[in-house]
Amino acid sequence: MNNDEILQTLTAMSHYVGAPDRGYAILGEGNTSARIDGDSMYIKASGTALGTMKPADFLAVSISKVTDILDEPNATDDDVRENLRAALLDPREERLPSVETVMHALLYEYGEYNFIAHTHPVACGGLLCSVNAKEAMLGRVCPDQIVVMGRASVFVPYVDPGLALAREVRDRVRQFVEEENEPPKAITLENHGVFALGPTAKSVMNITDMAEKMAYVLLGAYSAGGPKFMTEKDIDRIATRPDEKYRQKLIGG
Ligand SMILES: [Zn+2]
Repeated sequence: MNNDEILQTLTAMSHYVGAPDRGYAILGEGNTSARIDGDSMYIKASGTALGTMKPADFLAVSISKVTDILDEPNATDDDVRENLRAALLDPREERLPSVETVMHALLYEYGEYNFIAHTHPVACGGLLCSVNAKEAMLGRVCPDQIVVMGRASVFVPYVDPGLALAREVRDRVRQFVEEENEPPKAITLENHGVFALGPTAKSVMNITDMAEKMAYVLLGAYSAGGPKFMTEKDIDRIATRPDEKYRQKLIGG
C-alpha cells in the first residue's frame, strides 16, 4: 500500500468504528492509527471525531520518538505534549496528535500490527465498569470469539490515563507475548475501553465487532445466572484446528 492507500483505508476504518449507530465511540472518543513503515505511523489528530475523519485529519509521527518518553521516569504531562510535537514528521504541522498516541506507538513496536482502533463500545463498557471486568475480558465463551479474538486478551486494571497507563500497557503486552508466543489481538482497559490490533483494517474492525458482540452475550449470561466459560482444553482445540485457521484467513484475520 502507498501512503494514499493507507490513509484511505484508515479513514474508512475510522468511519466504521466511529459510526454513531454502532455505539463504539461518540464525540471525540477513541482513536485510530496505521503503520506507514518501520518507524512511522499515522494517528488521529487531537480534537477530531472518528465518524467524520478526513485523510488530512491524520498526522504522521515517528514511532521511536513518541516512545522515547516512556523511559523518562520524571516526565510530566507537559513533557508528553512537547515530545508529541517533536515526533511530528512535518515540522510545519501545528496540530497535535491524540493524547493516546503513546499507546499506539508502543504497540507498533510489534511488527505484526499495521492498523489499530481504540474505542469505548457500550456493552464492553458495561462489563469493563463492572466487578466482573477481569474474568469477563479474559474468559472465552464461544468458538467464533477465539477465531476472531484469539485464545486470550490482555486485561489492564484501571491506571491513571497518560504515561502511567502507557507503561502498564507496555508491561502487560510484553508479559502476554512471553506467555502466548504471539502478540494479542485485543487489549481491554478497565473502566475505559478496548484496543483492537491487526495486520489489516478488516481484522481490526472484526475484532472490535466481536468484542462488542461477546460483551452483549456475556451481559446476557451474567443476567441468566452467570457465564459458563470454555475450558482451557476446548479453547486450545479451537485455536489449533486447521479448519478454524482457514476460516480465520477467510474473514481477514
Ligand atoms: Zn480511550
